[in-house]
Amino acid sequence: MSSTVLKIAALAGDGIGPEVMREAIRVLRAVEAKFGLTLQITAAPVGWAGIDASGQALPDATLALCRASDCILFGSVGLPDRDPTIPKEARPERAALLRLRKEFGLFANLRPVKLPRELAHACPLSLERQGAGIDILVVRELTGGMYFGQPKKTEEIPAPAGEPSRKWFRAIDTMVYTTPEIERIAHVAFRTARLRRRKLTSIDKANVLENGVLWREVVTAVSREYPDVALDHMFVDNGAMQLVLRPTQFDVLLCENMFGDILSDEAAALAGSLGMLPSASLGAATGDRVFGFYEPAGGTAPDIAGRDLANPIAQILSAALMLRHSFGLNEPAVAIESAVGQVIAAGLRTGDIYSASESGARRVGTTEMGTAIAAAIGH
Ligand code: NAD
Repeated sequence: MSSTVLKIAALAGDGIGPEVMREAIRVLRAVEAKFGLTLQITAAPVGWAGIDASGQALPDATLALCRASDCILFGSVGLPDRDPTIPKEARPERAALLRLRKEFGLFANLRPVKLPRELAHACPLSLERQGAGIDILVVRELTGGMYFGQPKKTEEIPAPAGEPSRKWFRAIDTMVYTTPEIERIAHVAFRTARLRRRKLTSIDKANVLENGVLWREVVTAVSREYPDVALDHMFVDNGAMQLVLRPTQFDVLLCENMFGDILSDEAAALAGSLGMLPSASLGAATGDRVFGFYEPAGGTAPDIAGRDLANPIAQILSAALMLRHSFGLNEPAVAIESAVGQVIAAGLRTGDIYSASESGARRVGTTEMGTAIAAAIGH
């Protein structure tokens, strides 16, 4: 692998995007030197930066770069106060993000939530419930289920006889999954569980939904190929409750699209700050490569942009996910995650994870945090 050139499209985007991307690249360069990798990192504008550069949120040249790359390391896009006259379809959130997801068939969304022991104060749960530390990965199906199923519409219907005369509407969303759609996301979840503590909890609503019954059957069938991973099933309502009652019981949570949307945000709240949370969205594998899109869970944070206040850790951990999932480079990925752990243990805190009551903590800016993590890679 070391002689292969790893082609990375770096799309920093808007707001804090460029600041946190700069730190992620700093850390990637440290990993490149330590592990003898060859990273070809090419920057291109996206979002309002794309509109400013060439009139499009996803400029043609940026899309061409992405197509010629192995993966995309993404910052974030969107500035709510910029030009409200631009139609929704042309705004960065849709024209760039949704277009990229569609273009690269990104069907698997991975959201790790790890709360280091030193940041227990940032978690809304009691110390007792945090146990030995929270470390959960939510694997969410991203392209199926209720968000995309057809028919999807709102239609006017006649009011039943005897009802006061006013307009009646009916809204229809359709939840639909096929066997192959469930199989492919289940394989992603089982393979990822093998890189972790080998425990997978599949979330469904099999007591009420046909989709839940099929989901459970297919996940159980796929599990036979992974006898080393312990599988259990949980109804989504219980899963939501267990996440706050006993989050330490979970390793990997496998969810369909809507349940994953909700539970991944619930799990994210346990980490205390959006600035700590990376994510990966994966497409289909070609050979030993998986096309992936890696971005922080948070947005462009316009309230703190350009002031050296943003936490770069979510972007840096997204780069670790990229090495692991797009290139199979688990050791360098672990090196980045360990370096983040070391720097947190040493007491460095950006504003979002700083508490004046924490003894030994020192408040630092974006650049100092990134530089410290890059330096820790070398050790
Ligand atoms: P946001 O995530 O940008 O900010 C919410 C809060 O979290 C803010 O107080 C912000 O300062 C804080 N925060 C977020 N990331 C942080 C970090 N790395 N370090 C420290 N603090 C951090 O959400 P928002 O304010 O609702 O959205 C702002 C813009 O971002 C909007 O235009 C929205 O559409 C866009 N957005 C983009 C993406 C994406 O590109 N994937 C995701 C979410 C929101």
